[in-house]
Amino acid sequence: MIIQYTSFRQNYLSKRLLFLLTLSFFFISCSHNNIIETGHIERHGEKNPHGIKLTIGNNVPSIVSDYNSRYSTFGSIRSRGRHTGLDFKAPIGHPVIAASDGRVIRALYLSCGGNTVYITHGRDKKGNYIGTGYTHLDKIFANKGQLVKRGETIGTVGITGSCASGNVPHLHFLVFKANKKYHLGCAYISKNHRKDLPCKGKRMNPHEFWYDGIGMMSCFEKHKIYTNKMRARFTIPVECLKKMHKVTNTKLNRN
Ligand SMILES: [Zn+2]
Repeated sequence: MIIQYTSFRQNYLSKRLLFLLTLSFFFISCSHNNIIETGHIERHGEKNPHGIKLTIGNNVPSIVSDYNSRYSTFGSIRSRGRHTGLDFKAPIGHPVIAASDGRVIRALYLSCGGNTVYITHGRDKKGNYIGTGYTHLDKIFANKGQLVKRGETIGTVGITGSCASGNVPHLHFLVFKANKKYHLGCAYISKNHRKDLPCKGKRMNPHEFWYDGIGMMSCFEKHKIYTNKMRARFTIPVECLKKMHKVTNTKLNRN
């Protein structure tokens, strides 16, 4: 009886241990998925492709493909030429926020960009319109014509559209300059959409447009007062969390 009881108890304990191990593994995997890696740029062995020295503020999500890079989010050579935007890595469903105050000029699905939002932020000193684009969104929370404030959630990070290569959820963030408002962001519009839409908008280096200065990347802060004169100067277009995992190793986990 004692032997039987002992083996029953051992069996029970080992099952319990297995259950607890499975449970903790589940929680570790889940929490890992919710962590945003910060302060890192994946260069894929390439030198800085745009030449602007970057200063990365606290909790800025990691960049998996820099502006003008020859490499995609997972390190392959880009088939469509150099990168026209800036890819921030974040989990699917993570809030995408307006990089500054502005008006939504387009909120639509594009074959390449997937769910996409374009915002105009008014004109620069030379009279050109400055716009931002947000592509591969999982969900869009903004409508055409809507006024948005800096930091306002306009969608969520996703992997939609045929150009969201490599199954790495990320925000593809673009900055445009154009002499007419309706030219902004049309580089990603399919031929069908382009019929009545001349595409003269120029895609710019986002690092020239950060709020704190050229190359100075900083997160949107809820209680900071941002001057309206700096509408065409941007804060990070993905929500930054207080508790984020600082990447100290040289390679990102590409899962
Ligand atoms: Zn991209």
